Amino acid sequence: MIPYGRQSIDAADIESVVSVLRSDFLTQGPAVPQFEMAVSKMCGARYAVASNSATSALHLACRALDVRRGDIVWTSPITFVASANCALYCGAEIDFVDVDIETGNISVSALEAKLIWAESHNKLPKVLIVVHFAGQPCDMDSISRLAKKYNVSLVEDASHAIGASYNNEMVGACHYSDITIFSFHPVKIITAGEGGLATTNSSRLAEKMALLRSHGVTRDKNQMVDPSDEQWNYEQIDLGFNYRMTDIHAALGYSQLSKLEEFVDKRNDLAALYDSLLCDSSRVKPLIVRPDRRSAYHLYVIRLLNQSGEKRGSLFDSLRNQGVGVNVHYRPVHTQPYYSNMGFKQNDFPQAEEFYSQILSLPLYPDLEEESVKYIVDRLLENLN
Ligand SMILES: *Cc1c(COP(=O)(O)O)cnc(C)c1O
Repeated sequence: MIPYGRQSIDAADIESVVSVLRSDFLTQGPAVPQFEMAVSKMCGARYAVASNSATSALHLACRALDVRRGDIVWTSPITFVASANCALYCGAEIDFVDVDIETGNISVSALEAKLIWAESHNKLPKVLIVVHFAGQPCDMDSISRLAKKYNVSLVEDASHAIGASYNNEMVGACHYSDITIFSFHPVKIITAGEGGLATTNSSRLAEKMALLRSHGVTRDKNQMVDPSDEQWNYEQIDLGFNYRMTDIHAALGYSQLSKLEEFVDKRNDLAALYDSLLCDSSRVKPLIVRPDRRSAYHLYVIRLLNQSGEKRGSLFDSLRNQGVGVNVHYRPVHTQPYYSNMGFKQNDFPQAEEFYSQILSLPLYPDLEEESVKYIVDRLLENLN
């Protein structure tokens, strides 16, 4: 089976992990700050805080932005559940903003309409978490203008989008947002085995996330309630977690980061090949990438036009049977049982639901052969005819 995504690990990656295993520190050594510095430099943000997953980084971001019971957080329904769960971890309420069907990203007009409604009903969110779906940055210029106007903090869930750019600026620069989150799960653009990271330009937010990542415990005299305590003393000044990244994971992430550009170039080349092979089909429409941005192409997603849901099911099965590991990203979060139990209903976000009924993710990863792309497209078109 050609999988929908997979990691590329080379000898240098293996060597850098092994060298940590031979060193003095398996965790809380030099590899994590080295990785953090390299990521913040790559994307042009002042600070980076690594953690053991993007899920924990999203939780840290919400806590740093003071999300708590009584607050509301908005995100996209077309995302992995973690983008919404982080608000619930903080006791906040979650709501969604409908998407643009051509990109799967949050729709600016839906956002604007919902903000106007929310203001008049006293239901404005404290935080909006946008998701750069499939690796394409959202319309950050318009979204950040709206966020500023309504005094909403902005988080970018860039789990799909490390290495992407918007207006010639790397995603993660936080030019438009308070915090950006990356994931280093093996299926994402670069991997640390498991891992996540938050970038920000705010020293206050960075400090808060770093504190909460490690139990809310500090040895920093400037943060301590009683800095005159004995040398060995540390203070717990907040309720944090153990969300630390290990040096083993950071060493892999650091080594992978040196190949980020190469990986994203390769993904863009393969996506362009898919685009060119599919451009004559009236039944298949790839996602549109807007001209002022570059996708990191975590996923290659097509929309099947004029198909019934049943037809997609049988297409899915026959492609899988022919060795093509297609997938569907994502069932809208508000239709998950846990969320429908909270009161969300079918038709709450009609664009997202229609998008979901049309989409299919085709295999895409740096080591995918061009021959395989041709094979995949041949099987796809054959099944559609
Ligand atoms: C993968 C993913 C996450 C979670 O990442 P982990 O590192 O596995 O916790 C969050 N949001 C989105 C959009 C993702 O794709």
